[in-house]
Amino acid sequence: MASDAKTSKDAKAAAEQAEPEEKPADDRLLVIPSTLTVRQLAELVGASPVEVIKDLMKNGVMAAINQVIDYETATIVAHNMGFQTQEETAAEEAPERAVIEEEDPSLLKPRAAVVTIMGHVDHGKTKLLDAIRKTDVAAGEVGGITQHIGAYQVEVHGQHITFIDTPGHEAFTAMRARGAQVTDIAVLVIAADDGVMPQTVEAIDHSKAAGVPIVVAINKMDLEDANPDRVKQQLSEHGLIIEEWGGDVICVPVSAKTQEGLEDLLEHILLVAEVQELKANSQRAAVGTVIEAELDSTRGPMATMLVQAGTLQVGDVIVADEIYGKVKAMFNERGKRLKAAGPSTPVKVMGLSAVPHAGDAVIVVKNEQLARSLVTERQRQTAAASVRPLRAMTLESLYGEISAGKIKELNIVLKADVQGTLDAVRTALERLSEEQVRVNIVHAATGIITESDVMLALASKGIVIGFNSRPDTGASRQAETEGVDIRFYDVIYNLIEDVTKAMQGMLEPVYVEVVEGHTEVRQVFRVRGGRIAGCYVRDGVVSRGASARVLRQDEPIHTSRVASLRRFQEDVKEVQAGYECGVGIEGFQDFQEEDVIELYSQQRKS
Ligand code: GDP
Repeated sequence: MASDAKTSKDAKAAAEQAEPEEKPADDRLLVIPSTLTVRQLAELVGASPVEVIKDLMKNGVMAAINQVIDYETATIVAHNMGFQTQEETAAEEAPERAVIEEEDPSLLKPRAAVVTIMGHVDHGKTKLLDAIRKTDVAAGEVGGITQHIGAYQVEVHGQHITFIDTPGHEAFTAMRARGAQVTDIAVLVIAADDGVMPQTVEAIDHSKAAGVPIVVAINKMDLEDANPDRVKQQLSEHGLIIEEWGGDVICVPVSAKTQEGLEDLLEHILLVAEVQELKANSQRAAVGTVIEAELDSTRGPMATMLVQAGTLQVGDVIVADEIYGKVKAMFNERGKRLKAAGPSTPVKVMGLSAVPHAGDAVIVVKNEQLARSLVTERQRQTAAASVRPLRAMTLESLYGEISAGKIKELNIVLKADVQGTLDAVRTALERLSEEQVRVNIVHAATGIITESDVMLALASKGIVIGFNSRPDTGASRQAETEGVDIRFYDVIYNLIEDVTKAMQGMLEPVYVEVVEGHTEVRQVFRVRGGRIAGCYVRDGVVSRGASARVLRQDEPIHTSRVASLRRFQEDVKEVQAGYECGVGIEGFQDFQEEDVIELYSQQRKS
């Protein structure tokens, strides 16, 4: 919907009238989402939030800085500031991954399977990846040297298989935690002389949690003490029954060293792929996932993307999370330039403005303006969701999620100190399953809580329970930043009581606000990029990043956080009571002397 630029106060009415004819896009055309906050609108029109609030007030709309307004209301301000507006329609918004599955079946064509190799350390994952790469006939023909770009494709009997070149379930689950599932089949490598080890079990559980079928490769068959039967036996103890014993798990003996059995393995992967009926529409705009990315000193940001549906073309404008760019060139793993890349093809893409993260979803959008507005919108959403990501689940939020129909099971990663306890706790938890909600132990093992456990909980939208088990530093940090709930218990009764209450919605949210301090504004300074308040810390402490509200005559007029904190020109982390400091507040400039800044935090009551 396009509309005339109006400067009159009844612009809202004008906006509602919707001009019938489309106006050509020009520099002053703003694409505005259907809803946005006042702050976001201010950034879009390039004005301060106060100006926007004033303008809204003039038109009879009272809105605070973080208030969400609709498109119609936003157009009032935009028009007054001389912009034409256009609503960002659903079609122009980011198509989500689900789109891949919603294709018209007649457009779907078979695509190559994407395979990740997992297994215990030293069981031969890397060597197997190298050996498979060498089997590729096409590689020999071209004669190019294969580079590591994060994934490669091999041809087997005229069909293709794509291998993710970073082995291990950690990378696999980290990608899933970011919402990306690229793997269709997991190849579980187990050394025939060593058998099932702790990371083998992790790999099994991580694959199962993702619903990815497993093909077992019993490796190192060239060794004298290779004992494949023992491996098969151990697998059955972990719920993987091989075909020859009446189960459905394919198990192929191989040697990455002698290349024995590799062809058999590849053929079996093709077989599993066929059963899965992997398909994609190659005719649509491309969607995919970043596999890995780096900053190349001469070519700038380079990202290997796995195209999952559609065809990526040179010249396409792509958005990866909060980064966008135009595809200037694409290369395959042999350094060959490609003009187009279809489903399941990994390509190294040149042309992004910065280095994206592995696991970022990539989409193609119509033009750079749309890409820019999408990225700006996402950056705002990230800023707004500052404290903890919304994806993680907590025991307190369980009931809400069940009631909202979002989940039907409570996924738990369980760690305990010893096997006996682990088994007892596991049984007790599984017994709690009810009709409405099933308790699902995604992974149970002895030992400390690791980063891999935290990522698995995040990817499974579950929680971690440590029974006489604590997290290592990496896991603690990860849980903190991702908002993953880790619960510690040493008495089964307490654990069962908490989980039962959570399932019945009786576990109250236990966050309380704790006031951490107050500062008085004594002077207002202009600095580059805005205004800061020269303050005296009256009580408590002020710290950078802390939640803050600005009080004027005891009334809160703005709530956000401490964006900057300085003492004598130096950035500091915190300032104690009795000292003076300069405080900058995010999204707020309008300080007056005698304002009070109240610092607070949300703390979980335990
Ligand atoms: P990863 O940690 O699972 O990636 O294991 P690597 O691929 O690094 O292999 C670990 C060690 O096992 C290396 O010394 C390899 O040379 C060796 N290895 C891997 N596959 C085989 C195999 O099939 N036979 C023998 N004898 N050694 C192997």
